[in-house]
Amino acid sequence: MVRSVLDTGQEAVNTCPEVADEIKQTTCYMCACRCGINVYLKDGKVRYLEGNPDHPVNKGVLCAKGSAGIMQHYSPARLSKPLLRTGERGSGEFKEIEWDEALALATEWLGEVRRSDPRRFAFFTGRDQSQSLTGWWAMQYGTPNFAAHGGFCSVNMAAAGLYSIGGSFWEFGEPDWDHTRYFMLFGVAEDHDSNPIKAGLGRMKTKGRAKFVSVNPVKTGYSAVADEWIGLRPGTDGLFVLALVHELLKAEKIDWDFLGRYTNATWLVIDDPEGPEDGLFVRNPEGATLCWDTARGELAPTADVTAKAAVVGRFPLPDGRAAVPVFELLAKRYLDPSYAPEAVAERVGISAATIKRIAAELAEAAFEKEVVLDVAWTDWAGRKHDKMVGRPVSMHAMRGISAHSNGFHTCRAIHLLQMLLGSIDCPGGFGYKAPFPKLIPPSPQPAGKTAMPERPLPGMPLGFPLGPDDLQIDAEGRPTRIDKAYSWEFPLAAHGLMHMVIHNAWAGDPYPIDVLMMYMANMGWNSSMNVQGTLKYLTDKDPETGEYKIPKIIYSDAYYSEMVPYADLILPDTTYLERWDCISLLDRPISSAHGPGDAIRQPVCEPDRDVRPFQDVLIDLANRLQLPGFVYNDGEPKYPGGYPDYIANHERSPGIGPLAGWRGPEGKQQGTGAPNPDQLQRYIENGCFWVHKLSPDQLYFKHANKSYLSFAKTMGWIPTEEPIVMQLYSEILQKFRLAARGHGKVQPPAGERARVEAYFDPLPIWYPPMEEAAVDGEDFALHAITQRPMHMYHSWGSQNAWLRQITARNRLYVHPQTAARYGIADDDWVWVISPHGRVKGQVRLMHGVNPSTVWTWNAIGKRRGAWGLDHEAPESNRGFLLNHIISELLPEREGGHRYSNSDPVTGQAAWYDLRVRLERCRPGEEGVTDPLMEPVKAPPPRGLDDGGKLRYGAELKDRKAAATGQGTPFQEWIGNRHEVSVTVPGVADGKGNVKKPGGGGEGGA
Ligand code: SF4
Repeated sequence: MVRSVLDTGQEAVNTCPEVADEIKQTTCYMCACRCGINVYLKDGKVRYLEGNPDHPVNKGVLCAKGSAGIMQHYSPARLSKPLLRTGERGSGEFKEIEWDEALALATEWLGEVRRSDPRRFAFFTGRDQSQSLTGWWAMQYGTPNFAAHGGFCSVNMAAAGLYSIGGSFWEFGEPDWDHTRYFMLFGVAEDHDSNPIKAGLGRMKTKGRAKFVSVNPVKTGYSAVADEWIGLRPGTDGLFVLALVHELLKAEKIDWDFLGRYTNATWLVIDDPEGPEDGLFVRNPEGATLCWDTARGELAPTADVTAKAAVVGRFPLPDGRAAVPVFELLAKRYLDPSYAPEAVAERVGISAATIKRIAAELAEAAFEKEVVLDVAWTDWAGRKHDKMVGRPVSMHAMRGISAHSNGFHTCRAIHLLQMLLGSIDCPGGFGYKAPFPKLIPPSPQPAGKTAMPERPLPGMPLGFPLGPDDLQIDAEGRPTRIDKAYSWEFPLAAHGLMHMVIHNAWAGDPYPIDVLMMYMANMGWNSSMNVQGTLKYLTDKDPETGEYKIPKIIYSDAYYSEMVPYADLILPDTTYLERWDCISLLDRPISSAHGPGDAIRQPVCEPDRDVRPFQDVLIDLANRLQLPGFVYNDGEPKYPGGYPDYIANHERSPGIGPLAGWRGPEGKQQGTGAPNPDQLQRYIENGCFWVHKLSPDQLYFKHANKSYLSFAKTMGWIPTEEPIVMQLYSEILQKFRLAARGHGKVQPPAGERARVEAYFDPLPIWYPPMEEAAVDGEDFALHAITQRPMHMYHSWGSQNAWLRQITARNRLYVHPQTAARYGIADDDWVWVISPHGRVKGQVRLMHGVNPSTVWTWNAIGKRRGAWGLDHEAPESNRGFLLNHIISELLPEREGGHRYSNSDPVTGQAAWYDLRVRLERCRPGEEGVTDPLMEPVKAPPPRGLDDGGKLRYGAELKDRKAAATGQGTPFQEWIGNRHEVSVTVPGVADGKGNVKKPGGGGEGGA
């Protein structure tokens, strides 16, 4: 606000300062939530960001990260020109080249591999939001070696849900915030689903009718505002949940009606222990699953709604075998005393009384506070219901559940609990977001077993196996993918294992590769386990040829991250305000439980550097490589206008393209329809998003709701209007087990059988996290985990001039009792020692942490010199990275084999299994982190003044004020690179300057 004092002494207030020349709308990308934003532009530069009040995701809310997007957009760490390595890998020695040269070189490298053996090209992308394009590109290229970062992020959560209920948490489902009466939050990364959860919690708490229980070893963020915090031991969530299941079964507080109608509780399972079909569903000759009709005393199709299906008992089959309903198996399993609260309490770290009380509260909320909506609806079988009745218990889970090696089964256990309570897609429960629910599991299956030169794959590289036949293995059972996804080691690795690619490529296991291309994945630092090992893999050379073991690395990013110096060819990307993006129903849309939605990003600024959006670059490369799908038979490009052209005109199947809104020549269709040349313009006119509101009778019971299923089919999300029956018991998992027992034509090698048998239990199980089981629990008595601050998103946030003023370094948070045991006081420096290595950090004591656990903020620690930060930045000198002490491999087993440190079902990276001990630093060791690696050599950061400050906005001063001299012009915006810097003992600042230690926000508890 501009103020001045008039002659009269009265203050003149400029209530209408000139803020911007124009306002453009697009979608935020400061984290993965995809909120709508209004970008205020002045003279083509970003003046101000605000939340778009009309946007369905954030309804105007803009978080700290989103607001600070301006400092991301003008980051001094931005890359500015294609780079070609001139020195050794890691040296940071590059020369700038023109785009033509860069693209010609990439085409040459990729073309050679495609002509010989396309498997020797691996393409892995990080936190981009264009996996529908990148996966399809890999398919057209013909390599199976594609995945995005889900393998180290959330595949346990996604796969468990998609193999159990046909949906999952976060992008696939959400709590019914308005009606829920009991909300349980397991783990959770607070930068995932950030604004929607915050807004939902706000709504729920404002109503004041619901209890919010947070289950998390650490009491920060959401846990800090929960009504009850369950600070259990990391990796024991599954045991806690199964004890709740035990209690609910014992008290018969389960929704029999829901189980019978919507789950496979009544489906008969063959009980023939030595037989080849043991544990499979009983089916009639047409393949329909069967139940036992107690009224008629005979087998009946489970789809026969007139049958009175048995839930318990043992029934004869015509061939002399016997069968039992799923529920019988389930009840026997979880009523076992080993799941009783008293039996698990010590291991979980929560008293039996608390577990019993939570179970009772769940039952009370579900069965005594049911929500009844006067909305008539019709189910899939044509039965009319005059009301929608819901069990108002909702749940949400993400990390750490997902990041443990038992995470797949833990997530399945949570879904089992939801099903028993009848709280899925009902008023007050968890609700599917379109296009979910989908078939269980969704189609298609992964393709790529037989990659051939110059041929596309027959299908997408990633998918959902239905059994051993869908594994990506050769005739001898060896993995055909570089990351070993879909092998006998990780059969349901539906998102790949990005965290193993560099290791496996270096080791030539299962085979070497020639070219590795990565996008937006900081594998040289916070996206890799065993950072120093990874850097060695990237720089190791073959002693005979002198060539790098991973011969060629292409990398695209917008910023000079720690990964950049380890690549050979850098293709500089734009910021999120300079490009088109498509947030698609084919990928990760912005739907809610109230209806489908998708969105775009449009460029709101012109790049001031020689950079190009990676998606455009990919399409350009596809044209140069003549990839089918991207070019016509005569070789002419199908999408000469680049990515926006592709977004509007690509059809994945007839009538289905990246965007669902305004399809058809007139733009009057949604979901399906011919491409519309004006589609992007229509999105822009609508604030860059499209949503469709479901009618009230479609809002709940979507898995069995006739009207919804019919709508979903017309939208192309499901192949038929058949109901989606939730799977308490997974026959698919049992198929893998049978293979391990020697049945079927595709069987695991002898060495894998016991592992497959153990982890492919068709009902959810709990087992100790693998590292915990493998290491000495006395020597490494503590769990070490990370949490994600709400104001950061991975490594992007801690380079941001505004956000790093909130948190510029991380501490190791330790419970006072634990600290006392180790003789550690607040502010002490300690070594955090794992079986893999040690890292040094400074302690902050806090009570809100499980005493067997220490934790720190994720990805605050940086390598010196990267991200345009000063060499003295606290992030690199005092902040630390736990990844240094996490191994990507489990300890050696007999025979010398080392499995990846991952979930044995899905291959999800087990970041949260880490076990450590603490040692207080000796005098003289304090003050600086270790390992303190050599600074990354990088070009001078862009746009800093002589004082090392990022000054921005001087030219945006209020013109009127400047012209009239009336009032004080706006301040320019200053983002610091130095203010929070410290010179730490023993670390030369390189300039002979001495700075006073201190400063720098720490955030935290
Ligand atoms: S929650 Fe994420 S997408 Fe939304 S405003 Fe914040 S940073 Fe942007």
